[in-house]
Amino acid sequence: MICPRCSTVGVKVIYYGLPHRLCDNDECVCLWGPFDWLTTKLPFNGFMLQYQGSYWSALWTWLTEGQS
Ligand SMILES: [Zn+2]
Repeated sequence: MICPRCSTVGVKVIYYGLPHRLCDNDECVCLWGPFDWLTTKLPFNGFMLQYQGSYWSALWTWLTEGQS
């Protein structure tokens, strides 16, 4: 998955409990994904969980450990 702004490869993150991609370029830090139309309208809550592999197992981690 390539950043729509700078074409850097993004990393997978969970933001507001939804799967997103975060640009790995420190000067860009673009967040995008199938739900960015929603989450970009919400106040930035500062909490993202970077993950690899399955969204569902990462979501479980986010729910059980991520926000404590
Ligand atoms: Zn970017």
